[in-house]
Amino acid sequence: LLQVRDLVKTFGGRPVLAGVSFDVAPGEVLGLVGESGSGKSTTARCVTRLTRPDSGQILLGGRDVLAAGRRELRALRADMQMVFQDPYASLNPRMTVAELIGEPLLVHGLEPDRRRRRERAAELLETVGMTAEHLDRHPRSFSGGQRQRISIARALAVEPRLLICDEPVSSLDVSVQAQVLNLLRDLRERLGLSILFIAHDLAVVYYLCDRVAVMLGGELAEIGTREQIYGDPAHPYTRSLLDAVP
Ligand code: ATP
Ligand code: MG
Repeated sequence: LLQVRDLVKTFGGRPVLAGVSFDVAPGEVLGLVGESGSGKSTTARCVTRLTRPDSGQILLGGRDVLAAGRRELRALRADMQMVFQDPYASLNPRMTVAELIGEPLLVHGLEPDRRRRRERAAELLETVGMTAEHLDRHPRSFSGGQRQRISIARALAVEPRLLICDEPVSSLDVSVQAQVLNLLRDLRERLGLSILFIAHDLAVVYYLCDRVAVMLGGELAEIGTREQIYGDPAHPYTRSLLDAVP
């Protein structure tokens, strides 16, 4: 579904990505793990073209993301929605839950009718384990875990094939982390979603990911199946990450 080839990105002459390549197959969950500053978010931002890489290629469903014109880019972005670390910062506090979840449907011209958008928002809330009674509340009245559920519902509104989650549970309590990870695992099963799941440690991705890519200083130290990475890591850096897993 997603093919990333040889991404190179420099900021002010400093290399941040130095040839990053990986694929995400349809229905697959790929974990992208690495320490702070290793280039995980920059990779995600390149994939959605929020940042332009200096060179490299990105294909989504065979379509060239970097070469896409304005219209095509919009369609491609609808097909790969992002979920961010801090659900509070990424949800407009002045909007209600119904408006927040309905907004992508409006922006992408998929549902001009306000009442229909509200109905879709109610359905999506159920999809993420919440109920329609929350539709008129504002983000600040929810817990962190609930806010992340709302962010996920919002991302699902336009029915993307790929969800790019940039440390979606890093700001949550451990017990709430597990709930959100379970939700993602469940969604992947029910909807056949592909997920690029970014995290800084290996413990978080273990439950969810089929394969894991380990980033180190703007390069992929290694990429392999979950069993390989956890059972028989090839790179010393991966071994050091595993030592940190409780
Ligand atoms: P974290 O775990 O902290 O989120 P990360 O792996 O997501 O880290 P990135 O955010 O991709 O790392 O950043 C990689 C490097 O690129 C960092 O050194 C960062 O300072 C630098 N960087 C990222 N964005 C910019 C920018 N817009 N301008 C200059 N430097 C940047
Ligand atoms: Mg980051």
